[in-house]
Amino acid sequence: MIYSGTHICGHPGSVNLYGPAQNCKPRADKYFSQPCGACRLKAREEEYRRNADAARAQGLPELTGSEKQVAWATTIRANLMATLERNITWLKGKELMEWAGQVSEYQKIIVQTTSARWFIENRSVLARGPFIQKALQAQRSLSPETQSVESPAISINEQLMVRPELITQPGCVEIRITERRILAIYERNDAFRRIVYRQRFRWSAEAGAWHLKCLIQDGEPEDRAVELAMELLSGGFAVAMPSEKTRDMVIRGVYEPRHTRWIHATLSSFEVYFEREDQPARSALSALTRYPKWSNPRKCYTVPFSQFEGLCELIRLYDFRVSWAARQRLTQERARLESAACVRPVTIKKEQKDGLKQILTSSRAVLSDLMDDEV
Ligand SMILES: [Zn+2]
Repeated sequence: MIYSGTHICGHPGSVNLYGPAQNCKPRADKYFSQPCGACRLKAREEEYRRNADAARAQGLPELTGSEKQVAWATTIRANLMATLERNITWLKGKELMEWAGQVSEYQKIIVQTTSARWFIENRSVLARGPFIQKALQAQRSLSPETQSVESPAISINEQLMVRPELITQPGCVEIRITERRILAIYERNDAFRRIVYRQRFRWSAEAGAWHLKCLIQDGEPEDRAVELAMELLSGGFAVAMPSEKTRDMVIRGVYEPRHTRWIHATLSSFEVYFEREDQPARSALSALTRYPKWSNPRKCYTVPFSQFEGLCELIRLYDFRVSWAARQRLTQERARLESAACVRPVTIKKEQKDGLKQILTSSRAVLSDLMDDEV
């Protein structure tokens, strides 16, 4: 539904929102509580200009790169310099002179670095201790002529960027996928942290970023990346997607939402996945199957193959998704049960044999039968 209104800057506007009306109204209110697109753009350009003016006044060199990159990187550098300045003051206050000295040395490296791309690529780690150490080491190992900090192989592909209708956050979140791991890279920001945390991302000190290792119950990494991007977009963040395909998925809004209940199978047992706080699933599992066992390394319950009938009930009643391997195994177990039914004639035969024996040993019955025939 299209909502019309007046932005806080006084300009009229309209916004198309999807979903139940009671959800849309507050979103529309929020939308109009912000300046209109043109005013926001103007404000951002003014901020860039202010930062560029301040940089010139401080004697910082012009950055190199595309116009957009330079504008963004100038802001990153301005924020970084301010942060480092605060750190130096704080360290001096604690009489940690050696550390304060290291940070000012690092500041000098920053001042000498003119590649806008370098600031953008490293923006999430620039103010972090380990990165500062690395930068200092790299600098010391270089000859004075070639003074620039080694840049890790990170790059934002502007072609893969998606923007919300209302950008309220600076810069761009970069999402990367390597095999089943997703990284979300951005500067330190509380709104960002709340969103990634809700999507089950956790901080990885080693990667210097938030990450999610996709387990079975997380589904496909691409779906999780797109789901995160959707949340970030509605939080006002621009996002750089890891691929053309995921960017398309975001634009079309097509992805498999995270499903929390899963049945998987290994070579030795079924695995049942659900969330820790999912009490109904837990009770149903113990009611419908025997010997479910918690596996700490796998973070799931394992259930013997013999319990497949109970699992079928669980799947039917509790909306569990079934992985390909588990589906194969369920079919196999059912077929085994059906072929086991063919064994039944053996038991019947045994009963017959016993019955015959009974008849033979019960002389009265045999005699009366024989007598009837004889007569
Ligand atoms: Zn306006």
